[in-house]
Amino acid sequence: MNRIYFDNAATTPLDKEVLDAMLPYMTTYFGNPSSIYSYGRETRLAIETARKTVAKLLNAHPGEIFFTSCGTESNNTAVAAAIHDLDCRHIISSPIEHHAVLHTVEHYGCGDVSYSYVKLLPGGHVDMEDLEEQLASHEERCFVTLMHANNEIGNLLDIHAVGNLCKKYNAIFHSDCVQTLGHYPLDLRKTPVHFISGSSHKFHGPKGCGLLYVNDNVKIHPLILGGGQERNMRAGTENLYGIVGFGKALELAMANCEKDSAYVQSLKTYMIEQLRKNIKCVSFNGDAEGKSLYTVLSVAFPKTEKSEMLLFNLDINHICASGGSACTSGADQGSHVIRAINNNPNLVTVRFSFSKHNTKEEIDTVVEKLKELI
Ligand code: PLP
Repeated sequence: MNRIYFDNAATTPLDKEVLDAMLPYMTTYFGNPSSIYSYGRETRLAIETARKTVAKLLNAHPGEIFFTSCGTESNNTAVAAAIHDLDCRHIISSPIEHHAVLHTVEHYGCGDVSYSYVKLLPGGHVDMEDLEEQLASHEERCFVTLMHANNEIGNLLDIHAVGNLCKKYNAIFHSDCVQTLGHYPLDLRKTPVHFISGSSHKFHGPKGCGLLYVNDNVKIHPLILGGGQERNMRAGTENLYGIVGFGKALELAMANCEKDSAYVQSLKTYMIEQLRKNIKCVSFNGDAEGKSLYTVLSVAFPKTEKSEMLLFNLDINHICASGGSACTSGADQGSHVIRAINNNPNLVTVRFSFSKHNTKEEIDTVVEKLKELI
């Protein structure tokens, strides 16, 4: 059975070279990195080498790089630290953040901590004027958490512009970069941000390994308590092979970034063209042809009896994509992102997301199938 995998924003397949780098740390080199004898020293070295590699690729200091269990944990840590350690009393976020941020903001934004969401412009971008007004209107210190790229619609944030506004108002800034780390070059020395989150399974690395960048200028306490791992910042025996895989995956992703991103962007552009040519009344959510992540294409199809079953029918035809609808009734709450930007119940949304392994031929096959299924 030939399956077509167009859900790379959910996760990506592991690169063979990454697996090769990880395997020895599942077998030969198994020591606990906290052990002082040779078994421990060799695995400790592997972790610190990965940290240095990652730091170098992001132009950060190795002391600013913390490995976590996933992007979700990194997001939780950043929000908790801003409230508990950095004296932030108001959180500004957006209604289209990933739940790993949204639910965390709701959790911490109570008692003497409040939160609000920035307004969005019609295409789903953050309204920078509203952000500035909100920052200016709070006397207490603000914490701003806004994602670099939206995982459902692909909209890209001007992280520098937001960072500079935060600087102006002495706010702490976190950006969820889970969809952009490994896909765009990031120069953290030149980016006015206090925290960023990343996750290696989004760029052909292993699942279960995340990154939290914490700028040297902020001092925070750990979210997970216990042993002294990650320089007392994240207790628990390290995910050794995950960390080794993270380093290798980021190294490969950055080495091939220019070539791969141009190729994947060409796939997205091609799919937009083919859909417009072949499917009546198709439209695209967010700013698909503007400031948009090159891996993600969120497509809105007119709702018909047939198209309501679209994801199911795609799956039957061995095409893997993910949903997102404006549905607000019944058990299916639909996508909070689509609801926030385009609450049109007469549309059916499917997110297609691409990687370097996809081809134009696959797009042709999917578009042909869509002609039958809409
Ligand atoms: N943030 C964004 C934007 C994501 O897309 C995801 C995963 O889909 C996460 C956070 C959570 O990352 P993880 O799966 O590593 O917990």
